[in-house]
Amino acid sequence: MRNTVIPQGRHWQAIRKYLGKRFWWLGVLVGAIALLTATVTPAQTSDVIIRPTSPQLGDTISVILQTNDGTAPTIAYDGASYSSFPVGSNRYRALLPTTPLDRPGRKVIQFTLNGEPRSFAVELRNRRFPTQSIRVGGGTSTEATDYELNRLREFREAVSPQKFWSGPFARPADGRVSSEYGIRRYYNGEFAQDYYHKGVDYAGGTGSPIYAPAAGRVMVVGRVADGFRVNGNTIAVDHGQGVGSVFIHLSRIDVQEGDMVQPGQRIGAIGATGLATGPNLHWGLYVNGKSVDPVPWRQGGFE
Ligand SMILES: [Zn+2]
Repeated sequence: MRNTVIPQGRHWQAIRKYLGKRFWWLGVLVGAIALLTATVTPAQTSDVIIRPTSPQLGDTISVILQTNDGTAPTIAYDGASYSSFPVGSNRYRALLPTTPLDRPGRKVIQFTLNGEPRSFAVELRNRRFPTQSIRVGGGTSTEATDYELNRLREFREAVSPQKFWSGPFARPADGRVSSEYGIRRYYNGEFAQDYYHKGVDYAGGTGSPIYAPAAGRVMVVGRVADGFRVNGNTIAVDHGQGVGSVFIHLSRIDVQEGDMVQPGQRIGAIGATGLATGPNLHWGLYVNGKSVDPVPWRQGGFE
């Protein structure tokens, strides 16, 4: 190899020329990475805000979109589609539920914004839930009636356009949490693949007050006498836009279907009606049909 004398100022030019010949593939690689990150953006952009940025099983994922054309985007996520609702001028928000039954890992959120298809990736983190071992006998088991199943399905599937809630949810009972969200079970030593505790239980004596955790419209009042055999006396409140609360095993119901309730309003009392081992309040929070962890709704809340 011949030595070439390169004038001082031309060093960089020569190095660049050399690198360009030697490492052309690096440029292709950088280009490919740039293209990939442009089509599936992992975090957020000025017109898209996804919270939390690092969700875990049971979390609600909020997707806020800024549009130019004022049309509410529909969001595709994990094989389902979700409506978005206005939360400001040309701002829309969709709430995506996750549960302990979801497969953790990379999830893609897709929608069309201002006529342009967009994709965002989120990493849904795994989470360890406590487990319980239950022994069940071979005797007769109490089953839910079609009536209670149908009424509660109607409640879970309701997506009313109004947003009744505002700010973080309040605690619905004064007692301690006796059973947290998401607990998994073993029945006679066998892991129940599709079971998880779909709510939070609060300890409390029969007759202790239950308060609405947020504003909403009473959608279901179910009584043991009408066929709420497993859930017992039940109240389901629609908070709007696919968000709803259900309260079961009550001893008393103080509201009627169609009533509007305010946060902190007394709606009933703790009991042990239906299939309950003792007096407690089970509060289930549903987002677009799935039972989610109420804790993020209690702490930061959702716009
Ligand atoms: Zn429970």
